Amino acid sequence: MTKFKVVHEREGCIACGACAAISPDFWEMDEEGLSTLKGAKKVDNHFELEITEEQKATNQEAAEVCPVQIIHVREE
Ligand code: SF4
Repeated sequence: MTKFKVVHEREGCIACGACAAISPDFWEMDEEGLSTLKGAKKVDNHFELEITEEQKATNQEAAEVCPVQIIHVREE
């Protein structure tokens, strides 16, 4: 079965809030003012979350609205 993963290079976040606005089930702004991918685990210097195919579209939208392109949806 195909697996999907969201990758968030959080260090590059400019706190614009676009991802949280378009995909609030997965993204929120934290107390530091940066976005957080809910439930993601830290891997090296980024965060990762495994998602289902049904959850791909909303995260793809978040990736598309991110002005600094630090959100990626990958197929594994
Ligand atoms: S859209 Fe990108 S820059 Fe804006 S808050 Fe989300 S991750 Fe950060």
